[in-house]
Amino acid sequence: MKVGVPKEIKNHEYRVGLTPTAVRELVHNGHDVAVETQAGAAIGFTDDEFRTAGAEILPTAEAVFDWAEMIVKVKEPQAVERKMLKPHHTLFTYLHLAPDVAQTRDLIESGATCIAYETVTDRHGRLPLLAPMSEVAGRMSIQAGAHCLEKAQGGRGLLLGGVPGVEPAKVTVIGGGVVGQNAIAMAIGLGAEVVVLDKNIDTLRALDHQYSNRIRTVYSTRESVEQHVLEADLVIGAVLIPGAAAPKLVTAEMIKRMKPGAVLVDVAIDQGGCFETSKATTHAEPTYIIDDVVHYCVANMPGAVARTSTMALNNATLPFTLAIANKGPKQAMLDDAHLLNGLNVCKGKLTYKSVAEDQGLEF
Ligand code: NAD
Repeated sequence: MKVGVPKEIKNHEYRVGLTPTAVRELVHNGHDVAVETQAGAAIGFTDDEFRTAGAEILPTAEAVFDWAEMIVKVKEPQAVERKMLKPHHTLFTYLHLAPDVAQTRDLIESGATCIAYETVTDRHGRLPLLAPMSEVAGRMSIQAGAHCLEKAQGGRGLLLGGVPGVEPAKVTVIGGGVVGQNAIAMAIGLGAEVVVLDKNIDTLRALDHQYSNRIRTVYSTRESVEQHVLEADLVIGAVLIPGAAAPKLVTAEMIKRMKPGAVLVDVAIDQGGCFETSKATTHAEPTYIIDDVVHYCVANMPGAVARTSTMALNNATLPFTLAIANKGPKQAMLDDAHLLNGLNVCKGKLTYKSVAEDQGLEF
């Protein structure tokens, strides 16, 4: 199959659909790959590396779309890219169609087969192509939070791990899923004192088993959230209710009573945020302060570490990319119900129920 990789054009998006390593795997499987010039340059994947891996370098996105049968990207296609999509294309990328009426309409009109990373499932009912970005964001949340605790950033002037003779900082992680687990691992690594709250007892059980008495696990209720938010120096918001906006677990009134200079990192901000005072920020201006509490609410945290994120995403997508290329999209989806769950738009029809429901469209 002819697999094309255009350069990402969304603002401040530096990731790229395929790494040179992934290109080499595809070429080894007998496929042709074309990459737009400079597609990976911002994160150190040069055109020469792509050539060495076996890709052809094309000068423009138009050339890539004209040539390719499958398009592999990272972000949802922008309006100018959607115009280049044709019925023979298979598009494999993040789409996040539910709130995006214009994109949904354009993809339907394109006639292309559009498979969304974020709705591909695994046998445990999880979302394996979202998990790597949650891992990245979870790990980054502690890095970002530690930085915000510095005095110059408005923080309490605390070192997460303390030093010999000085107590470490207290970190409260709300939500012990993928983001939460990765935040916990980093916080422990830096020597912080960690409490995790979750509503799922099995999740708390697994964390207790893994970390024994190195962390405290607490069932999440209004009362326990309040207690551990007020005690914390750093709070990580990492909750998710699938398909719904994040619950506002931490109220503005609680935040008023937090320690001055404490830090909130709201990773769940892409679902509206789980702190009442959260509003989305960008990497250019990641924080703001309300009631002496530093808020970090960047909606696309993995974008800051685009090279790591690209490699993590490719590790997760590559088996599916290979299956689509090897078998063709139809057979690959017939053989794998989890990949089929990724199908959002197919040959002029919307094929994903919750997107149709959200937009009041025919399904
Ligand atoms: P996940 O499903 O693995 O984990 C969510 C956890 O929240 C679950 O363990 C669930 O039991 C728990 N939870 C639900 N309600 C709760 C409550 N009331 N109190 C305590 N815990 C509760 O999800 P995830 O992959 O860890 O993602 C977490 C959030 O991070 C999501 O909103 C996701 O979209 C977001 N995210 C943001 C970025 C970013 O750049 N900002 C990147 C990746 C993921």
